Amino acid sequence: MLRQALIAVSKSERAERVVASSPLTRDLVRRFVADDIGAVVTELTDRRLLVTVDHLGEEVRDRAQADGAVRAYLAVLDRLPPGADVSVKLTALGLRLSEQLALDNAATICDAVAGRGITLTLDAEEHDTIAGLESVHATLRKEHPGVGIVVQAYLLDAAERCARLDGARVRLCKGAYTAPGAYTSAREIDRSFVRCLKILMAGSGYPMVATHDPRLIEIASALAVLNGRDATAFEFQMLYGVRPAEQERLAGVGAQVRVYVPYGSDWYPYLMRRLAERPANLAFFARSLLSR
Ligand code: FAD
Repeated sequence: MLRQALIAVSKSERAERVVASSPLTRDLVRRFVADDIGAVVTELTDRRLLVTVDHLGEEVRDRAQADGAVRAYLAVLDRLPPGADVSVKLTALGLRLSEQLALDNAATICDAVAGRGITLTLDAEEHDTIAGLESVHATLRKEHPGVGIVVQAYLLDAAERCARLDGARVRLCKGAYTAPGAYTSAREIDRSFVRCLKILMAGSGYPMVATHDPRLIEIASALAVLNGRDATAFEFQMLYGVRPAEQERLAGVGAQVRVYVPYGSDWYPYLMRRLAERPANLAFFARSLLSR
């Protein structure tokens, strides 16, 4: 119930004005969003963590805004080391205006990262954008085989999607939105996650296991061993500001760990989704309100 309410609030412009205008929100934003992307990338890579950066923004209303998002990605590339990744939301590149526009914009970023040793991953968003996401990914992959895509385990057919994507770089996550008919219970989502993991680990692609869930991290590690994958043949991914000690622990035992680092001023919907995932984040917010 709370999760659904917060996801609804993440789309409300009025709620955004209230939350954004409060100086009390600052601590929470700082915890989950990089205020200086160059400094945060350096700090993480110095700690042997990989990064994927997300220029915050979604749902552009016109081509000029979509062009702005492309420019922002091109501008950040000079601040990223080889081995970094950029996470891109197709709605920020104009998917809701036209699929061709989003494809052209994503191709521009793919061309720019090629040759720098940087990869691009297409984030998964609302359920009505998934067909567009898969179609853009399939087209991009013909020229840029390393382009990644996200599968949300809460979708009923997540396992079939993973099977269809054999050979690709696939980030598996639980899913941060809501979708009609999707799994809603934690147990069902976890089961679907494990089904997907089995397919990805046994397949010929590169699995990116995006979760903070200790049980799923353990299962993924075991499946990697069972399928003869060494530490370079898959990676864990976690969000900036979430379980940083676990990120370091995993990297310390030789796993590849990539931290998803959002940056930019359009942080509101991202922050609301983080609150929706974990009541403890709400408690953190409440504590920061009370401590003033
Ligand atoms: P949860 O069910 O949130 O947590 C499971 C367990 O993890 C908890 O019980 C607890 O033991 C532990 N845990 C979680 N948070 C904490 C914490 N703060 N401190 C201590 N323990 C904690 N979603 C999309 O829909 N599309 C995307 O493109 C997308 N990309 C993502 C990229 C990355 C790198 C990550 C990590 C997530 C992404 N997500 C995306 C979000 C994802 O779908 C989930 O909403 C989010 O990761 C929370 O799910 P979880 O797997 O961490 O498990």
